[in-house]
Amino acid sequence: MVDLVVRAPRPSSKPGRIPPDWDLPRAAYAYPDPSSVTLRIREVAEYLREVLGVRVTIRKEFFNHVAARDLEPLARKIAATRVRHLLKPFEPAEPLYGEVQFELRLLRDPTKRVPGVLYDGYRYASLLRSLLPPRERSLRTVHVVFAHRLLGTYEDDGRYHARAVVCGFPSIVSTSGIVEAPAKPEGYYRVKARLSAALGSVPFEAAKAPFEGQFVDYDDPRLTMVANGYALQAAMYAITKEAFCDAPACRLYNAHWQAELLAAQVESGRLCPRHAQVAARIRAASARKA
Ligand SMILES: [Zn+2]
Repeated sequence: MVDLVVRAPRPSSKPGRIPPDWDLPRAAYAYPDPSSVTLRIREVAEYLREVLGVRVTIRKEFFNHVAARDLEPLARKIAATRVRHLLKPFEPAEPLYGEVQFELRLLRDPTKRVPGVLYDGYRYASLLRSLLPPRERSLRTVHVVFAHRLLGTYEDDGRYHARAVVCGFPSIVSTSGIVEAPAKPEGYYRVKARLSAALGSVPFEAAKAPFEGQFVDYDDPRLTMVANGYALQAAMYAITKEAFCDAPACRLYNAHWQAELLAAQVESGRLCPRHAQVAARIRAASARKA
């Protein structure tokens, strides 16, 4: 059936105007993760400027930037966002002494990375938001925080899932999440299970070896390229309220497998035609505002 109704163009679809529900950022900030040696944050900021025309100011590591004097209360609040049951929605609990000390050590040395602990992504983001000055807690201030902590969200299937990015205010790109959240090749899990049964411990490195290059690993040389795509998802979310795309070759594709992540971010490295257009409109609007 042919749709014969010709709709008058909405004012928002005039060239050069952006829809009223988009928020063009007044300021954008990126915060590095000093534990990721292959993450070049300047390139990420430059990429966002190139694609969206948004000038991104680079700050210090997030907790360093907000510079809490007394680290212990902050460590306690971070520890309180730990996920304790993978199969239950978040339940607030008083953190243990050892967990607070663990966070204190990480706060004192941001170059340390400790995998294996999962934090509730939304509670963690809300803690970070509470540390920002009120004038920066606006929809028009984009914060892209790179962090090494592994963040998860509790989903409808009744369990927590690790995330590469948690979009919100601020948005957090987890450098551990990029490695751990999208599933590795199926064979990897078989090899890991076989080796674990034989050795009695989990030999991650030995299990990874046969699949080298097929997934993003810690300190992967491709990390900055991948981080560009996730930072773009975060910025797009802040502007258009939509972070993800269904097109597998689009940088906004929500990858569930490492192979999909690499296809979108490294092999393609581009936006789909629709999002290329969205980006062009944002660029044009940013240029007019500047
Ligand atoms: Zn797209």
